[in-house]
Amino acid sequence: MKLQSIRGMSDTLPEDAAVWQYLEKTVSQVLATYAYREIRFPIVEQTELFKRSIGDVTDIVEKEMYTFEDRNGDSLSLRPEGTAGCVRACIQQGLLYNQTQRLWYQGPMFRHERPQKGRLRQFHQVGVEAFGFEGPDIDAELLILTARLWRQLGIEDALTLQINSIGEAVDRTRYRVALVEYLGEHRERLDADSQRRLQTNPLRILDSKSPDTQAVLVDAPQLPDFIDPASREHFKQFCALLDAAEVRYEINPRLVRGLDYYGKTVFEWVTDSLGAQGTVCAGGRYDGLVEQIGGKPCVAAGFALGLERILLLLDALDVVPDRVGRSVDIYMVAVGNVAAKASALAEALRSSVSGIRLEQHCGVGGFKAQLKKAHKSGAKIALILGEAECAKSQLQVKYLREDRDQDTVDFDRLVEFITNVFI
Ligand code: ATP
Ligand code: MG
Repeated sequence: MKLQSIRGMSDTLPEDAAVWQYLEKTVSQVLATYAYREIRFPIVEQTELFKRSIGDVTDIVEKEMYTFEDRNGDSLSLRPEGTAGCVRACIQQGLLYNQTQRLWYQGPMFRHERPQKGRLRQFHQVGVEAFGFEGPDIDAELLILTARLWRQLGIEDALTLQINSIGEAVDRTRYRVALVEYLGEHRERLDADSQRRLQTNPLRILDSKSPDTQAVLVDAPQLPDFIDPASREHFKQFCALLDAAEVRYEINPRLVRGLDYYGKTVFEWVTDSLGAQGTVCAGGRYDGLVEQIGGKPCVAAGFALGLERILLLLDALDVVPDRVGRSVDIYMVAVGNVAAKASALAEALRSSVSGIRLEQHCGVGGFKAQLKKAHKSGAKIALILGEAECAKSQLQVKYLREDRDQDTVDFDRLVEFITNVFI
């Protein structure tokens, strides 16, 4: 039997890793400009944590978690998302006492789903969570910063923001009764999944993909008509803040979200460039969760973005900067008895030219063979050092990607020369 990776869990090869690094760096830089700080917590937690936070009858807990017994007989699960672990860590470490927190994290999440484009069993999220802010200003900040991130990445035109308010738990309970009553009258027209959800999680029926179910929903009661005045006012101010910041959005009265802990504001950034897996970022307010997990009451809001889906979008729109795919800038060719000198020059360049990526030829190989490797490396230029040049304290600069004559450069001017080339 050949050993292979687990279905839905993929390898990232060096070329792709370069794009991952670019994305991760861009995200962390944008978050830093809003004073969010990184937090790290384990990939494995008690199963109970996820049950209590995400909700027993959600898709995730019902059928997507990797749950196992460890050697002590405890039930543990690989994290299917980050909010639960983040909140658990904040409570346990006392981060929420009389203080606000703006936090982010990133890493692998695990869900046993049917793998397809943009849907994996090990996937990666960046999560952003803000604790202790009551007003809609933080909800708006979360979206203003994501809008900036899309601009930075060059994908803003492919994304639309959908928002809704799902009110308080009591509003949703009243709404659920009305919805179940209405849908019960049209039970036979609903898809099988939705019929089942009628008992377990009727709000999830709202984002059913079945056209028949959607047709029934056209005349269904709408959640925004059931929400309390405070949630209504919160939503109104939230919209006004987005307007002021020129973040465009659509109000989608059927947007609910699949996790139980949300209340008031919910949102999703969606694209139609990726087929069925069109949601790249989703979140909202979860004022009750901290208390639900055992902390003192603390309001909160946050979102998670799916890195694989953003990478697919970067690829579809072809907006990754050129330099990102290239891992080598300079290839050093050394022919004859000049290895030590070549090495010294390479070291000088690494010390003086910030960010330079220089590959020095190692092993045997004549001039032709080395130059071939230089071309294959993707480098922009080759530095060529032979015994005759070395004797004159000079080397040749060969341009590998442009039609341009070779230059001859003195050793003591090399750093300056290369700096100018790469500015
Ligand atoms: P979907 O409706 O696509 O299943 P979800 O509502 O389950 O998404 P969330 O739990 O809100 O997703 O996760 C936030 C983001 O994480 C999603 O918008 C998506 O970009 C990403 N994501 C979720 N599940 C997966 C997965 N299995 N593979 C890749 N990315 C995922
Ligand atoms: Mg899902």
